[in-house]
Amino acid sequence: MGKKISKGKKKVEKRVKVKKEPQQKPQEDPVLREILTQIAGERGYEVAKTLVEGEITDDEVAKRMGMRVNLARKILYELYENRVVSYRRVRDEHSGWYVYYWRIEPERAREYFDNNKRLFIQKLEERLEVERNTMFFGCGNGDPKLPFEVAAENDFKCPRCGGKLEPYDNSNVITALERQIESLRQRLVGS
Ligand SMILES: [Zn+2]
Repeated sequence: MGKKISKGKKKVEKRVKVKKEPQQKPQEDPVLREILTQIAGERGYEVAKTLVEGEITDDEVAKRMGMRVNLARKILYELYENRVVSYRRVRDEHSGWYVYYWRIEPERAREYFDNNKRLFIQKLEERLEVERNTMFFGCGNGDPKLPFEVAAENDFKCPRCGGKLEPYDNSNVITALERQIESLRQRLVGS
């Protein structure tokens, strides 16, 4: 009695060895990108990106995004509610107004992600299914691609720019989604 159980210790040590990956800038981290996009949409992601280099005011965010301050604030609060960004409130001595300085919290974004991994993977898989089973058309001018039915309804003219809609090769999107799902799955197993 009293003998300590030391089974499995070696196994644990082995698993600690971490595969070295090239260091990425926060704004280019595909996983973080996916997290932010899932939380706050493409635009939310773009807004979050303006905070990567350091904290800035909502006015500054609006200026950099070329959007109205109210909209920038709305998106920032969305991100805040999901704990991806935080703010610091400072009272302007001259005007008496509060100025909000926003900053991104990538670690919290990851935490949020960790709690929602399965849901994220499920959403990505749904998107992958759509990409695989849809014939898309695009104008080539950067406007959103459209499924065949919608393109046909618009006589194969882009509803945004009027350009001719041509078959759109989405194999890059499919490959990117497959990679993302794979990397998320690995993280799911690793936790
Ligand atoms: Zn277009």
